[in-house]
Amino acid sequence: MQHVMVIGGGVVGLTTAWSLLEAGFEVSVVEREAELAQGASRANGGQLSYRFVSPLADSGVPPKALRWLFEPDSPLRFKPEWSLHQWKWLAAFLGNCRASVNQQTTQRLLALGAFSQTAFSELYTHAQLQGVALRTPGKLVIYRSPAEFAAVATRLRGDSKNIEKLLSYQECLSLEPALTHSPVQLAGGVFTAGEAVADCYALSLQLAERLRVHARFKGFVHAQAQGFVIRDGKTVALRTDVGEMDADAFVIAAGLQSRALALTAGISLPIYPLKGYSLTAPIGTAHKPPVVSVTDIEKKILYAQIGSTLRVAAMADLVGEDTRIDPARMASLYRSVNATFPQAANYEASEEWAGLRPATPSGAPILGATPVSGLWLNVGHGALGFTMSFGAARIVSELIAGRKSPLSLDGLQLRA
Ligand SMILES: Cc1cc2nc3c(=O)[nH]c(=O)nc-3n(C[C@H](O)[C@H](O)[C@H](O)COP(=O)(O)OP(=O)(O)OC[C@H]3O[C@@H](n4cnc5c(N)ncnc54)[C@H](O)[C@@H]3O)c2cc1C
Repeated sequence: MQHVMVIGGGVVGLTTAWSLLEAGFEVSVVEREAELAQGASRANGGQLSYRFVSPLADSGVPPKALRWLFEPDSPLRFKPEWSLHQWKWLAAFLGNCRASVNQQTTQRLLALGAFSQTAFSELYTHAQLQGVALRTPGKLVIYRSPAEFAAVATRLRGDSKNIEKLLSYQECLSLEPALTHSPVQLAGGVFTAGEAVADCYALSLQLAERLRVHARFKGFVHAQAQGFVIRDGKTVALRTDVGEMDADAFVIAAGLQSRALALTAGISLPIYPLKGYSLTAPIGTAHKPPVVSVTDIEKKILYAQIGSTLRVAAMADLVGEDTRIDPARMASLYRSVNATFPQAANYEASEEWAGLRPATPSGAPILGATPVSGLWLNVGHGALGFTMSFGAARIVSELIAGRKSPLSLDGLQLRA
């Protein structure tokens, strides 16, 4: 029986390990931290956003980004670094800021999202997950600017396959009563039924428990992966700080650090950190939290009820590999949430968090084979890694099993 080693114990690595077990492999997971899911999967927005993908790279973004740089509560911040990688990534990102590229990426992510939704329900049942705060309240994207809302309305009306529902301000209030306690006057909203929320961290830890008791799971190894031993063009072992480890195949699923790891095998991955922040605020009986998951699109802030807390996630800062919480950015987030949903939760008791999205310039992940035999990728999930992890894991495990990808990999593979 073939043994596959997965590098990375975030939601992407753990779902990959599960799919590989289901496909009949023996599996082990290498994680550098003493605990699992401490990276981007720790306290993300919790939205399972299968049908609303909105890649950041779009035609209107460069002028908007320039304006944002000078706004105090802007959703984006940029700190120039002495790093060729940052500038190369930025140039590639700007190259992707075209309507045609955005539409193409959107279609690819929607296809992956639909596949991932099915893969999630199967995993949820087979792995018998419980207590991961899963709800399916649907998602409401709110628009403040009449011009932005008019543009989206025109796009949706022209799309015959569209399943999203355009809502007037009054309809938004009826759908989500928490908005009646908001001083914000909206232009309108777009509602997508069937969108879910869950606790990514709880799900990751529970999945790890299911892996541990699986007959073909060979265990978690807490070690720092440093590179690969490649003989005659085939990957035969992983070098770590505790020695070399053999396997028949290796999957890089190490989030942001996938780039450094792949470089040791001569593979260059266009992944750069997009830093985001979240706060998790307890909801008391007197609070009026939104019940549906809400995306405040112009502010780029997500709100999701996770158990008895409100998770608010926001911002995309290009500031390098820095997970420190910047008090000025946190203060900005508190200003925004207090101005939008002032009565939704006890923000003063919030748990604050910052994480790094492992982002590609287009916003699409990179899945599947590499030019090095036995070395596979499940990387670059950026802003939607929780949502897409289930489908991506299934695709990668099917490919390793020598079967055809269940979904077209056009635009989702490593470019030669
Ligand atoms: C603020 C914020 C909000 C978000 N909101 C959402 C959302 O609402 N919905 C959604 O779908 N997605 C969301 N995301 C994105 C999502 O969180 C990520 O795409 C996803 O968590 C990436 O998972 P990962 O497993 O690839 O990376 P990680 O969770 O970072 O896991 C990588 C793991 O690899 C390990 N590792 C790294 N290097 C090595 C090494 N050399 N050796 C061994 N182990 C190593 C790390 O320690 C880590 O455990 C959000 C992200 C942020 C930051």
